[in-house]
Amino acid sequence: MKLRVLGAFGSEGLGQRPSAFLVNDRVLVDAGSVSGALTVPEQLEVEHALISHSHLDHVTGLAFLSETLACCGARRPVTVASTEPIVDALKKSVFNNVVWPDFARIPDATTPVLKYRTLVEEAEQRVGELWVTPVAVTHTVPTVGFVIHDGTRGFVYSGDTGPTQALWSAARGLTSIRAVILECAFPSRLAALAEAARHMTPALIQRELDKLPPDVPIWIYHVKPQFFEETADELSRLGGGRVMMMEQDKTYSL
Ligand SMILES: [Zn+2]
Ligand SMILES: [Zn+2]
Repeated sequence: MKLRVLGAFGSEGLGQRPSAFLVNDRVLVDAGSVSGALTVPEQLEVEHALISHSHLDHVTGLAFLSETLACCGARRPVTVASTEPIVDALKKSVFNNVVWPDFARIPDATTPVLKYRTLVEEAEQRVGELWVTPVAVTHTVPTVGFVIHDGTRGFVYSGDTGPTQALWSAARGLTSIRAVILECAFPSRLAALAEAARHMTPALIQRELDKLPPDVPIWIYHVKPQFFEETADELSRLGGGRVMMMEQDKTYSL
């Protein structure tokens, strides 16, 4: 399984793009950045977008990807998939003909460039060539993490979350899991902000470690660019080498 990091950050900075990952060239996991990280032919290869929640740093790339598809002769739509509250939020608050056009009706309602699919929470379902289980996590708006595998290899993706439980329980005992992709937003001194915004800090991750699937590497994404060096420095001292920062534009093999 191939995992390409299109955006590794929890916001935008100079050369630092919001969170998005591409699995096997076809399936986006979050879409904070797409068109700024992929060529047009690469964008046209995308078939599915698994979306953890409606915050801009996870969906902005869908807006511009839709435009690419509409403008550049896409042969098929991109199917945006998540649980019901998240799909609803995208329809009502983003692709609502106010913030951005309703690309589920462009060029027309029968052959649109964007389609929506509602996933069942805590059930494993087929998305392209992958198996995907969405599990609710702990954030300020409805948010899911995903357990994703291809039958033999896969990973857990946290989405935005503070300390949580159900996602780690869902991943426990799955032998296919090769990595936990875990968010961290702020340095530990900003614990109050992390608590209010429902995000992780290195100190919170330290406490979370025992809940995670054992013996699996933890790959960190979503650090806010404003606090990157301080947070990365704290993370480098965690977990005895088990915790690693994900690099933007790098492709990981699982
Ligand atoms: Zn975020
Ligand atoms: Zn968020």
